[in-house]
Amino acid sequence: MRSLQSTLLTPYKNIIHAFSTRDNGYSLKPFLQNNLAFHVNDNPDLVLKNHQNYANYLHYDINKLVYMEQVHGTTIKIIDKETDLSKTPKCDALITQEKDIPLMVMVADCIPILLFDPVQEVIAVVHAGRAGVFNNILINTIDEMKNKCKTNVKDLLVILGPSIRECCYEVGEEIKVEAQKLNFGYSIKEKDGSYYLDLIRIIKQELQKINIKNKNIEISKYCTSCNNKTFFSYRADKNTTGRFSGLLMLK
Ligand SMILES: [Zn+2]
Repeated sequence: MRSLQSTLLTPYKNIIHAFSTRDNGYSLKPFLQNNLAFHVNDNPDLVLKNHQNYANYLHYDINKLVYMEQVHGTTIKIIDKETDLSKTPKCDALITQEKDIPLMVMVADCIPILLFDPVQEVIAVVHAGRAGVFNNILINTIDEMKNKCKTNVKDLLVILGPSIRECCYEVGEEIKVEAQKLNFGYSIKEKDGSYYLDLIRIIKQELQKINIKNKNIEISKYCTSCNNKTFFSYRADKNTTGRFSGLLMLK
């Protein structure tokens, strides 16, 4: 499987979208095969070849690709005509209304989120790990789309890509306490004396609060840790691994 498509996004012919997998790349162990991240100590020549290969496959201009230096923060960047595309923005969400600029989020267990407003023609990608979910990066990005791009939430499509799920996401007592402080206590399940965190459940609840319709939310069935032959998983691969991507572009 070379990439995953979204059922909600596929009908739209004015966008390109995909979640990449490990397949069809040049990187060697432990980054087999299609690692798209330069910061994980993989051979940069091979990572570049992976990017070129993937751009050819999805038909976008690699010179216009925007990805992020992701820092588990809450900074959201809007890409417009003035943006210098040669610089990598330090942020965890990107929004644009520009055509032919592919936005990419890279992950290995965190949630890659794609947002599409087909009415105003706005796209966004979000990197949501535990810190991002606890700090509401997704809802903040949607607010930014509402305020700056006139997005109406009733039109918005929200796609959550493969990520580590409750089955594999064991956390310590301190995370449980933090979740409880934030009123996310319902996201922690106790099993055999260990705690498991369900970030998807928090996101669903938060989306419901802002009236995103259920039918406009798509959640990948894949847990990255359970499926680490197909997707990179920071946990299952014992911390040294590559990154796969969520990508969205307006044509
Ligand atoms: Zn799992």
